Amino acid sequence: QERNADLKALIRTIPDFPKPGIQFRDITTLLLDPTGWATAIERMVAAVSGPVDLVAGIEARGFLFAAALAAPLKAGVLLIRKDGKLPGATIAEDYALEYGTDRIAIHADAFAPGARVLLVDDLIATGGTARAAVRLLAKAGAVVTQAQFLVDLPDLGGAGALRADGIDATALID
Ligand code: IMP
Repeated sequence: QERNADLKALIRTIPDFPKPGIQFRDITTLLLDPTGWATAIERMVAAVSGPVDLVAGIEARGFLFAAALAAPLKAGVLLIRKDGKLPGATIAEDYALEYGTDRIAIHADAFAPGARVLLVDDLIATGGTARAAVRLLAKAGAVVTQAQFLVDLPDLGGAGALRADGIDATALID
């Protein structure tokens, strides 16, 4: 974490977005920084343990991380999309939001059972999204042992909950 202070300095906090009282961690400033972005991806790649067949990213910012990590790992990119966006037959999973529910989906034929999938996203907060992604991948037959994030908000407990589920969940920045 200490050695990622350089990356932390590239993330800004926008108060009261998207609602009053929320401190939104905005990573677009890190994405705009050529050295910062390359460094973030290098450090995430270096933290990968074991062989990976597919890197799964959660729509939308997770796609950036999945694509960037997959290339050096020689893995494929799996898009975990909001329901209704994928053209083929899908497998979906619901998860609770503060008000209501949301649904994510993957193509049912995206991989064969036993595929080793690394889950990535820009940020983990409560873990509701990432844990739904893990359930979805497991339901489709994937082996998910690791999840990586650029940012963890540890007070919200999401990464801890993933670790309690047996997933090696890490982030570059708290
Ligand atoms: P969770 O489901 O509560 O863990 O929220 C994580 C999801 O919401 C991720 O897909 C994030 O992209 C997004 N998210 C939540 N809070 C923030 C934030 O402060 N900055 C950027 N993305 C956020």
